[in-house]
Amino acid sequence: MKNDHTMTNQPRREWLKQNAALGAALAGGALPALAQAPTKTGNSASGAAPVRAWQNWAKTEQFQPKSWWVPNNEAELIQRLRAQPAEAIRCVGAGHSFTGLVPTEGSIVSLDRLSGIIHVDRQAMTVRVHAGTRIGVLARALHEQGLALSNQPDIDVQSLAGAMATATHGTGMTLPAIHDQVVGLRMVTMDGQVHECDHKREPELFDAARVSLGALGIITEFTLKVRPRFMLKRRIWLEPLDTLLARAVPKLLSTPRAMHFTESEFHVPRAVGIKCVKEVLATLERRNEVFYPIEFRYVKGDNAWLTPFAGGDYCSIACHAKQGEEYGYLTSDLGPIFRRYGGRPHWGKLHDLGRDELAARYPRLPDFERLRQSLDPQGRLLNKHLKTLMRVSDVS
Ligand SMILES: Cc1cc2nc3c(=O)[nH]c(=O)nc-3n(C[C@H](O)[C@H](O)[C@H](O)COP(=O)(O)OP(=O)(O)OC[C@H]3O[C@@H](n4cnc5c(N)ncnc54)[C@H](O)[C@@H]3O)c2cc1C
Repeated sequence: MKNDHTMTNQPRREWLKQNAALGAALAGGALPALAQAPTKTGNSASGAAPVRAWQNWAKTEQFQPKSWWVPNNEAELIQRLRAQPAEAIRCVGAGHSFTGLVPTEGSIVSLDRLSGIIHVDRQAMTVRVHAGTRIGVLARALHEQGLALSNQPDIDVQSLAGAMATATHGTGMTLPAIHDQVVGLRMVTMDGQVHECDHKREPELFDAARVSLGALGIITEFTLKVRPRFMLKRRIWLEPLDTLLARAVPKLLSTPRAMHFTESEFHVPRAVGIKCVKEVLATLERRNEVFYPIEFRYVKGDNAWLTPFAGGDYCSIACHAKQGEEYGYLTSDLGPIFRRYGGRPHWGKLHDLGRDELAARYPRLPDFERLRQSLDPQGRLLNKHLKTLMRVSDVS
């Protein structure tokens, strides 16, 4: 097999040593650890920000938007949507998706200025929060109030809206993905209408909008379930693979990522998770030059329309390639294995499934397509990538 990487073994060892040192520094640390601060995006009173090129964290997606809007509040967002009724737009969070969810021929909207806690309800143990809030910023604010999210992904720089949009998850045998902590949300559709939805008010929209790929409207607020603050202790150990895979790791600490990479992740039914990961490992071993650790996580099922965790509990298997190195094997070599095990791709990570394969794995996709069409008949929120994921031939 061709070896395309350019690194020598020496930098790989140094990299592994650095990351082990980082892990040791964090051992025993308290939650939450804020990995990176939100991006500063201009300061215009009208919400317009300097136009600049955009690229995602992994540098696999780049484009030049027509303009950047960074609204100061929801009213300004609605005003602009109505003032420019034909403009194509895409929302951006922290730009941490590996797929082409953000690039558009139109403008970018960032909710970086709609950040922070709005209200805490201690009786219901919920928090109302602006959708542009970064996960780590929320986790710290909750921590100060003696509260916490029950589960977080392995980094915490994502915006809440961005993370929900792709069904971002952490790990835990009994812990669902973070969109399952949402008990209410507020969304502005392209006609400037505001939809407050939850299990009782517009329940169908609620279940569709919790994992929306940014295709239904702009989410401005969430109400999230929270729990009392807790400590999480990080442990690092070596163990034979078979015994390690037989046990569950209950929680995950969000930590910064010093080195950039490209990633693919599939979610497979829990019953076949170990078998699948063993096949993935055997395939990676044959490539010889793959040195990134793989992530094997547990996610409890939920019922959002586009959740990858519908119909039971899942194992998530994520494989990485260092930025700048060849990464085609993530889809060409590993994709067929995940497909054979009934895997559903993470919406924010590399995969090559087209609409029909996705519809076979995501049974509510046709319902989502119909809802998207009714909320955004002009297809203002559609981009090239979304058109490969869903049927949109009837866009007016
Ligand atoms: C280093 C790294 C570690 C990661 N770790 C994990 C992990 O542990 N678990 C996991 O599941 N994933 C993980 N991911 C993937 C990441 O969590 C998802 O791709 C997530 O969607 C990124 O959030 P973001 O804020 O960067 O959103 P972006 O990538 O900027 O956008 C994602 C989607 O959200 C939409 N969106 C943004 N704001 C709004 C809004 N206000 N209203 C409607 N739609 C909106 C966008 O249009 C887009 O479709 C990781 C990614 C990286 C790079």
